[in-house]
Amino acid sequence: MNHVYSWREAPKAQFAVIGDPVDHSLSPQMHNAAYAALGLPFEYVAIQVPPGEVSQALDHLRELEYRGTNVTVPHKEEALSWCKHVDGFCEQVQAVNTIDVRRRAGVNTDANGFLATLGDMTPSSVLLMGAGGSAKSIARALVRDGWTVRIWNRTHEKAVDLARLAGAAVTDEADPTGAALILNTTSASLQGDDLPVLWERTVKDAIAYDLAYGDSPFLKVAAEHGLRTMNGLPMLVEQGALALEWWTGESAPRAVMAKALEKGPEKPTGTKEQG
Ligand code: NDP
Repeated sequence: MNHVYSWREAPKAQFAVIGDPVDHSLSPQMHNAAYAALGLPFEYVAIQVPPGEVSQALDHLRELEYRGTNVTVPHKEEALSWCKHVDGFCEQVQAVNTIDVRRRAGVNTDANGFLATLGDMTPSSVLLMGAGGSAKSIARALVRDGWTVRIWNRTHEKAVDLARLAGAAVTDEADPTGAALILNTTSASLQGDDLPVLWERTVKDAIAYDLAYGDSPFLKVAAEHGLRTMNGLPMLVEQGALALEWWTGESAPRAVMAKALEKGPEKPTGTKEQG
């Protein structure tokens, strides 16, 4: 568990993750390991910011000469409105997860971080489950890159809305027929819940991918059906690496960052970071 500072008591440091809650974020241990490996004299801390106070908090961190912050739930939209410079993708998904505090500039490394973890997979068909914040940016990015996206969500109306926004199709059954990628962007795994996937319809060689870190009921059942599986740790590393590279211009030491996550949160108590 991180030492968490309230934003009014933020220490002298260069980088931070802001969120609410933020105590179990894995970002400080990952970024601090990267700065140590690069020989950079930077410190990355966790800062608690209640909803509605994001602009004030970021103004304060700017006065303290912070260079950058990551932004986790539920602040990705509030942080966007503080930024004076954001790209079109952030506008489309109404979210930033990485801020250059000095320039008041924001980017979203979640979607590109996710895409990087797909390696050289050829865009084809994906069954995407979920319609929350991460689904929003990932669905858009997948469609942009030529994937055919079908969205299923527990609350069907949200899947309908997201499909319309992202240029995707919607399905009222989690039917993976024809999908090379079966992607769980829901937080069901954090609650220990499974999803109603019609596993018997999966195609050979399909990959089951869960954005949650570590084992999950979804990945367990997928493996039992013979699918290859991926969890959310590589994406966490990639979105952090892209943020670090954007802030510092250095090449991120991805292997060091991944290693720093191997031990998990320093004192786990059950909740997890949300990106
Ligand atoms: P949101 O709260 O924005 O969205 C949650 C989604 O999960 C909604 O679609 C919701 O459905 C669905 N959901 C919640 N509980 C259940 C359940 N029991 N069964 C079925 N569906 C459920 O969350 P985010 O998009 O921010 O995050 C989602 C997940 O992605 C989390 O596990 C988070 O940790 C992970 N994540 C990982 C990242 C990484 O770097 N690896 C980055 C970002 C996120 P409904 O609309 O019906 O409420």
